[in-house]
Amino acid sequence: LNYRTTRFMVSAARVDQCPPEYGREVAFAGRSNAGKSSALNALTGSSKLARTSKTPGRTQLINFFEIDEEHRLVDLPGYGYAKVPEKMKHEWQRHLGAYLEQRECLVGVVLLMDIRHPMKEFDQIMIDWARQSQLPLHILLTKSDKLKFGAAKGIMIKLRSQLKDMEGLVTIQLFSSLKKTGVDELRGTLDSWLCQ
Ligand code: GDP
Repeated sequence: LNYRTTRFMVSAARVDQCPPEYGREVAFAGRSNAGKSSALNALTGSSKLARTSKTPGRTQLINFFEIDEEHRLVDLPGYGYAKVPEKMKHEWQRHLGAYLEQRECLVGVVLLMDIRHPMKEFDQIMIDWARQSQLPLHILLTKSDKLKFGAAKGIMIKLRSQLKDMEGLVTIQLFSSLKKTGVDELRGTLDSWLCQ
């Protein structure tokens, strides 16, 4: 697919505001600051797209982007701002959970983790959810340029062995928006999910 034609479609505060179910979509999830906007930017070549997701008022929404008429990328709200009140966190989990469970055209989730801080509580929740629902998960270990290649690879291998019970369901790669490493590998995974 040509990800460079990706355009903003609509934002949804609740599942019933999502666009109608047709074609296929892949969702991007990650803790705040994991590098999601930068990754979407590197993938689509459009900084406008990432900016849209960061517009105040849109950060807590599910943002839909259209690659073409049949294929979409979905930016899920970031998680982990310390200042967010408990009640909002629960609301957020409820909406996100509803989207993940109910959305039939969702074919896979890309989970972004800062390679220096992998497997936080949010990541664990997403992984458990993928395990339960048997939906493919592709993990990007982001900002891999911050570590030496050997150290980065070591973290990836360790994570693979930690998630051994999910073999066939989880794939993991190194990613750097700064150095543009791993962008082709990410495109390959998205193509395999979206173009079946
Ligand atoms: P988001 O909150 O998940 O959307 O994260 P952003 O994409 O806004 O990135 C958060 C911070 O990490 C910003 O200061 C980025 O410049 C930085 N960042 C993102 N990707 C990379 C990367 O590949 N390498 C490095 N060194 N920094 C990055």
